Amino acid sequence: MTPAPRVGVLALQGGVAEHARMLEELGAEPVLVRTAEQLAGLDAIVLPGGESSTVDRLLRLFGLREPLRGVILEGLPTLGTCAGLILLSSGIEDPAPGQRTLEVLDVTVARNAFGSQTASEEVELAWGEDGAAVRTAFIRAPVVTRVGEGVAVLARHRGQVVAVASGNVLGISFHPELTGETTVHRHLLELVAARRALAA
Ligand code: GLN
Repeated sequence: MTPAPRVGVLALQGGVAEHARMLEELGAEPVLVRTAEQLAGLDAIVLPGGESSTVDRLLRLFGLREPLRGVILEGLPTLGTCAGLILLSSGIEDPAPGQRTLEVLDVTVARNAFGSQTASEEVELAWGEDGAAVRTAFIRAPVVTRVGEGVAVLARHRGQVVAVASGNVLGISFHPELTGETTVHRHLLELVAARRALAA
């Protein structure tokens, strides 16, 4: 039997527990990641929502930025949600002072694009090629304003790009972990299975 995939959840700040719970429900083993050492032996990683400028600062403070960037560039299946998408992007239109990104996903994002916290909402999106219904929440969500070459658009909301994929990297503006929506996390675990099959 193949062992349960070990999926890291970056646990510096933000919505960590909800992702860990969902991964467990799907049969994966969540691993909370706060140090570079904890990146070893992972089959995938999730960058949760939160405040992207805070997570950026903590990543650099804890010496985690370069090691995390390294494993993603080497092909580790990666899912960034909301602030996590901002962190993965190659640039932010309206960064906080000094804010940087990991530059591993060739898109540009705009933060808080759907308005303030009070404009947060629960919606149903059409996901991927077959337009599967995905029920999810938007909370001070970013949008993708530029999609680089080789980056696929997986979903839109109000005409704006809110989900993208490029190779091993998936980035979404919204929070499926808050509505119990498993489609996106299953997609991440499919990337793990595909990578294992290649390595076998
Ligand atoms: N607006 C937040 C940011 O800029 C993201 C919000 C979220 O992750 N729910 O990082």
